[in-house]
Amino acid sequence: MVMKNHIRRTAYVDNVCCECGSPYSSPSYLIKHMMEVHQIQLHPRMQSRSRPISTQYEFVKSKSDPHQCLFYGCPSCWFYCPQDLQRLAKHIQDTHLVDLEDGYETPEYEEEKNVVYEH
Ligand SMILES: [Zn+2]
Ligand SMILES: [Zn+2]
Repeated sequence: MVMKNHIRRTAYVDNVCCECGSPYSSPSYLIKHMMEVHQIQLHPRMQSRSRPISTQYEFVKSKSDPHQCLFYGCPSCWFYCPQDLQRLAKHIQDTHLVDLEDGYETPEYEEEKNVVYEH
């Protein structure tokens, strides 16, 4: 059997929660889930754009379409990786959560000092 390398393999990029592995049919559902369940706030990607053409893979639109490869995709950009939750989580952490850190309230480490013992 001759491998035809010039033929792209079909692939589906799944919307999977990087925290708990739950699959979702659309990135917007996944973003909603991550916000509500894990308090991870991600921005949705531009709806008007479709996934950039790959020279290696032909991406199918639906999970029910026949596909040879399955990837985990980021709901916030076009990143995808093998089925590896840790890799996806690292991408999201490194790419999408760094900018948000300034907005987070700093933990109140001072609190303990201010404990007043009332009797
Ligand atoms: Zn989850
Ligand atoms: Zn991303």
